[in-house]
Amino acid sequence: MVIRGQKKAVFVHGCFWHGHKGCPRAARPETNRVFWDKKIDGNMARDRRNLRELKKEGWSVLVIWQCQTKDETALMRRLQRFAEKE
Ligand SMILES: [Zn+2]
Repeated sequence: MVIRGQKKAVFVHGCFWHGHKGCPRAARPETNRVFWDKKIDGNMARDRRNLRELKKEGWSVLVIWQCQTKDETALMRRLQRFAEKE
């Protein structure tokens, strides 16, 4: 999601696939542990790389985790603050 006319981008990350730290939804399966660690750690590394690149190019980035979308009021406030930020 990109806010038109501004260099601002919003990402919504699934807690499991993007490895939300400390989040119950991000618990990794016990079976095929090596596979999941590799897969999700890889996603997390890619996310960090992407964010770094965007910031280097002057983008403001807001990451919202899937578990944070449940509280719609809080979510809308965050989006609004982010959109209004200089
Ligand atoms: Zn989460």
